[in-house]
Amino acid sequence: PRVTVGMGTCGRGNGAEEVYHALLDAIDRSGQDVLLAPVGCFGSCFQEPLVTVRLPGGPLVILKHVLASDASRILEGVSTHVMPPDLIYCKIEEWDHLTGQVRYGQGYPEIPLWNGTNFFKGQKKIVLRDCGLINPEDIEEYIGVGGYQALYKVLIDGRPETVIEQVKAARLRGRGGAGFLTGNKWDFLAKAKSDVKYVICNADEGDPGAYMNRNELEGDPHSMLEGMIIGAYATGATDGIIYVRAEYPLAVHRLSKAIEQAREYGLLGKNILDRGFNFDIELIQGAGAFVCGEETALIASLEDAAGRPRSRPPYPAQSGLWGKPTNINNVETWCNIPPIIARGAGWFAETGSVKSPGTKVFSLVGKIRNTGLVEMPLGTPLKSFIYDIGEGGISGRPIKAVQTGGPSGGCIPAEMLDTPVDYESLAQIGSIMGSGGMVVMDEDNCMVDVARYFIEFTHSESCGKCVPCRVGLDKALRILNNVTKGQGNQQQLALLDQMSRMIRECSLCGLGQSAPNPVLTTIRHFRDEYEDHILAHR
Ligand code: SF4
Repeated sequence: PRVTVGMGTCGRGNGAEEVYHALLDAIDRSGQDVLLAPVGCFGSCFQEPLVTVRLPGGPLVILKHVLASDASRILEGVSTHVMPPDLIYCKIEEWDHLTGQVRYGQGYPEIPLWNGTNFFKGQKKIVLRDCGLINPEDIEEYIGVGGYQALYKVLIDGRPETVIEQVKAARLRGRGGAGFLTGNKWDFLAKAKSDVKYVICNADEGDPGAYMNRNELEGDPHSMLEGMIIGAYATGATDGIIYVRAEYPLAVHRLSKAIEQAREYGLLGKNILDRGFNFDIELIQGAGAFVCGEETALIASLEDAAGRPRSRPPYPAQSGLWGKPTNINNVETWCNIPPIIARGAGWFAETGSVKSPGTKVFSLVGKIRNTGLVEMPLGTPLKSFIYDIGEGGISGRPIKAVQTGGPSGGCIPAEMLDTPVDYESLAQIGSIMGSGGMVVMDEDNCMVDVARYFIEFTHSESCGKCVPCRVGLDKALRILNNVTKGQGNQQQLALLDQMSRMIRECSLCGLGQSAPNPVLTTIRHFRDEYEDHILAHR
């Protein structure tokens, strides 16, 4: 038997460490031959702490809201093959791994299948395929579910050009927010001539309410590493860097361990898999500036300069880190690479929409009943996230709006929840995909306060290099402060609208260009709330 405990940051925050130690004691006391392992987050954070139990020949049973005091009952269930019914959440009878389908036996018919539960119905796990199921600190477990087979395949059979063709054919778009075609970016780097070329993983996830990348790294770090190594082979990169937030200590710990293990297994370093391919990865911790998620600011930060964006061209593929050709992709983009290579571009493009194939991971948070990490086909209507997966507002409160895309995303009113979640559709209604934050607001939220909160955030994170963002956001924040204090007027509201458009048009980088989105969308869709603030204090 094998028992695991979801010990990502979300699990630990809910008491998973106590559960783990209680299970360890119970195993010792019972004398049973049970393997106990930590795993990452399975996605349903609202059910944490999660424990999985797999009996030989049986399904993988997932237990929810487990307490340390439940340890003895779980161990008893392991010996009797009957789990405590009050803890049972769902089961997994089969799981699509890169190698195909792994069967777990006939199972217990009374336990719902994982993808039959409201939270997981309609989800498709490509990036999160093994998160919450394998031990992220054990490379053998990743290899056991088909890990590093895609790398093996490209090094043994594939030429670099073929790999890039496959990524192009999959039409994988960057999951960090901009949605640029990954295969095209790789092509630029592959064609650049230089003795040194860099590939970088942008793991500087700093959006309030977003934790997709953190959980991907905590749950399955080898998947991201494998994607990076394949990308380096395809583009001829010599050096890899992971730029990760220092505020993610668990992700840093698991990534460091994964890099060491990959080196031990000959998957990083010199002459990888005896194919004459040399490539290694260095882990660098960022100091927590939101703007360093912008790729030119990230490069400046790596060069020990102030993390400030610069204008383009030259693009990083021409002149990036230390003036050398560089490609930057975010965590989730890299994680999509191994399944695309292993299962083919055609398989990948079957999911999602024509312009945006595949899935996207979102962190569904805020005033919603079911919170957690959600991986859905791109193009799924927003209302499916809110009402099917999230099961609506807390205590049945009506949903007022959803903000997608982090602090620079627009606030989408409940009437527009039919909107498909893809890059173009969200942009059309004034929001962005961003890296995948999804914050739900209900009737108790004041939308002017929401806009003020996000402008305060982007204002404090602005690097100050260009005037429209530095001065414009400062003035916008002053007006919003006035309005929320009841000291605003119609002229100020008109100025706020006009200035937000100017900041969007004239700012140098994505931070300034998208920062006004919360203001513009709340003025457009919730103007009455601004009017109420002004009128109420006349
Ligand atoms: Fe800095 Fe803002 Fe200008 Fe970007 S838009 S360079 S964050 S001042």
